[in-house]
Amino acid sequence: MSQPPPTLAEITRAIRNVPDFPQPGIQFKDITPVLGDGRLFAATVDALIGRFAPGQVDAVAGIDARGFIFAAAAAVKLQAGLVPVRKKGKLPYQTIEESYELEYGSNTLAIHADAVKPGNRVLLLDDLLATGGTARAAATLLRRLGAEILEVGFVIELSFLQGRAKLREFPVRSLIAF
Ligand code: AMP
Repeated sequence: MSQPPPTLAEITRAIRNVPDFPQPGIQFKDITPVLGDGRLFAATVDALIGRFAPGQVDAVAGIDARGFIFAAAAAVKLQAGLVPVRKKGKLPYQTIEESYELEYGSNTLAIHADAVKPGNRVLLLDDLLATGGTARAAATLLRRLGAEILEVGFVIELSFLQGRAKLREFPVRSLIAF
């Protein structure tokens, strides 16, 4: 007999907390135990896809780097294209860029200028929402290309960092909140 699909509680228990990585004071949420378990990985992708069905999404955009993993799997299931939103300097063709502030310094994301067409319906995914700057920059890039952002989805949301406040213009959904 086949096993029932895992619950969100089971997925939550598999997320590993790594203190002081990559720097002191950061509690890194390591999703590799979820990826390494086929049942948990599949259930996480299904939950991220949520209400969307094939034909309703033109492209799934994933944020460098762990967002790619979920976006690629979701894109295949939705029969949609995959759009990588990358750190500056990684994409080979013509790009547009968006910078955002970090606690110390700034970061820049880039997307190919022809990655989506105006009016394309896009689901944007990343593994984790912290302060929201990364997802906001990615969503802004997609919007600059004329995409309609259906939803910005995350496996994990660190609620105490209030990243949602930076994404007010977009529908935001997370599976697991800490
Ligand atoms: P932010 O722009 O502050 O929302 O940061 C989100 C991005 O940084 C995502 O791409 C996450 O993968 C990564 N990130 C931030 N904080 C953490 C954390 N505590 N554990 C794992 N990844 C994190």
